[in-house]
Amino acid sequence: MKIKTKLRLGLGILFLMILALSLIAARYVYLLKEDTENILQNNYKTLDYSRSMFLAIDGIHTDPGAWTKFEQNLKDQENNVTERGEGDVTRKIAGHYASLKADPGSEKLPVLIRNDLAELTLINMKAIQAKSDKALTTAQAAFLWIALTGTICFLIALTLLVNLPGNIGNPIRELTESIRAIAEKKYAERLHFSGKDEFGELARSFNSMAEKLEEYDNSNLSQILIEKKRIEALINNMHEPVIGLDENKNVLFANEEAIKIMGIAAGDLLGKSAVDLARQNDLIRVLIQEEQSLNGSSGHPASAALKIYADEKESYFEKEIVDIAILPTGERSKKFIGQVILLKNVTPFKELDFAKTNFIATVSHELKTPISSIKMSLQLLESSQTGAVNEEQQQLISSIKEDSDRLLKITGELLNMSQVETGNIQLNIQQSSPYDILKYAVDAVKTPLEQKHIELVVEADDRLPDVKADMEKTAWVLINFLTNAVRYSQEESKIHIHVTDSGQGIKFLVQDEGKGIDSRYRSKIFDRYFQVPGSSKSGTGLGLAISKEFIEAQGGNIGVVSEIGMGSTFYFELAKA
Ligand code: ADP
Repeated sequence: MKIKTKLRLGLGILFLMILALSLIAARYVYLLKEDTENILQNNYKTLDYSRSMFLAIDGIHTDPGAWTKFEQNLKDQENNVTERGEGDVTRKIAGHYASLKADPGSEKLPVLIRNDLAELTLINMKAIQAKSDKALTTAQAAFLWIALTGTICFLIALTLLVNLPGNIGNPIRELTESIRAIAEKKYAERLHFSGKDEFGELARSFNSMAEKLEEYDNSNLSQILIEKKRIEALINNMHEPVIGLDENKNVLFANEEAIKIMGIAAGDLLGKSAVDLARQNDLIRVLIQEEQSLNGSSGHPASAALKIYADEKESYFEKEIVDIAILPTGERSKKFIGQVILLKNVTPFKELDFAKTNFIATVSHELKTPISSIKMSLQLLESSQTGAVNEEQQQLISSIKEDSDRLLKITGELLNMSQVETGNIQLNIQQSSPYDILKYAVDAVKTPLEQKHIELVVEADDRLPDVKADMEKTAWVLINFLTNAVRYSQEESKIHIHVTDSGQGIKFLVQDEGKGIDSRYRSKIFDRYFQVPGSSKSGTGLGLAISKEFIEAQGGNIGVVSEIGMGSTFYFELAKA
């Protein structure tokens, strides 16, 4: 039952009980009043008239006014006949009085009148007795009914008094305690009011709220916290520096490595604006500057490695900026939410690179002198002053001369390469024949091809125009493509070379049947030091980077088409002369 109905019913019953009690009490008071009024009205007056008539009859011979007094009272009595038999007695008195008036000297008549008056008095006294008994019965009934109704009212009121406040107060107390428990994050708290009243509805709403809170607490918050800690631990355990920025360039996170190289306390870094921090920190400034200059090519490392002095040593890092965008729930377009700056430590490669560059520079420099003296000796041998040589010897001398020329060229090339790596490319661009470039490269890879029993299929268009190129460097690129193709091909497979006129320029294409390159790495293989994970460790990841620099320095373009398991096709294109 609803509380409203309960209260209405309780108060209604109380009201009805009070009404019933009042009606019963009023009825009995009225009945008692009726009873006493009758006695006064009917009997008391008759007794009074009788007494007056007694006195008048006694003084009838001495008091002349006694006759009138008697007659007056008799008249009043005749008008107040109320009891049974009273009328007869009154008429008897009137008859005897009339006889006395006719015979005033009679001794007998006053005696008769006195007897009549005594009879009249007796009748009324009996009536008074009967009426008094009746009033007593009425009073007793009144007492009984009023007591009975009063007791019922009392019992009902007592029941309401005991039950109603508890009925309303207890659920409110329970509800207050439960709300307090929810406030203390005890989301397992539930209310157990059954029934269909307002408290039942309240309990159902409360329980559904607590259930949702509990579900939210279990599913989201704690799990998110655990996930957050896991990710933080993961980022912190990375050996490469990682910095996260939000969409307004505020620092969201930075792992220990990043904090170490930046030389800023974590407290001064996290949550701060990277733009503000850049004013005091050179490294952050560089990161932000480069980030701006790299707009549109995000996701690719900056070409020049950053030199950072940290931990009492110089280290080289390659920066990669990854734009983070998410698809918010229920929306169609992605939303940019920040950036992650990854710094890849390339110090070991850089050191290796320096060592190799120095080694190449030294070796090629050292080789130049003996080769030059070989050439001089050959010239001397050829001259007639040192004596005549026969035809066979002449052939040997010219073959040695060719080889030493080639050696000299190669050492020069190696020197050039070290110049490329130190940043100064010296190009010798001239009109060159694509066939010469092709021949030069094909000759150079003969030995490795033979070792792996790989067949080289060369297809070159007829009458190709010359290209504007540095012949040696272009051939070097083609050799690099071919040696890679050999390295990543199975034994007894085929490698195709196509040299075609593409319209805008001459295109050199090297196609192998090897394992191919995963699409994830395809855009990165031309970056310095990049090696596809799991590929041969003998390389340094520099070959394609140098190739790219060579070709682009000549105004050409370079690229790859590859699919995993489908082989790779490396190409470059150079302008016609
Ligand atoms: P490396 O000295 O390591 O060969 P490169 O710059 O020449 O360096 O090549 C970069 C990466 O590209 C290599 O690590 C290799 O995984 C991949 N690659 C180059 N050529 C091929 C090819 N023909 N087939 C498959 N992968 C290749």
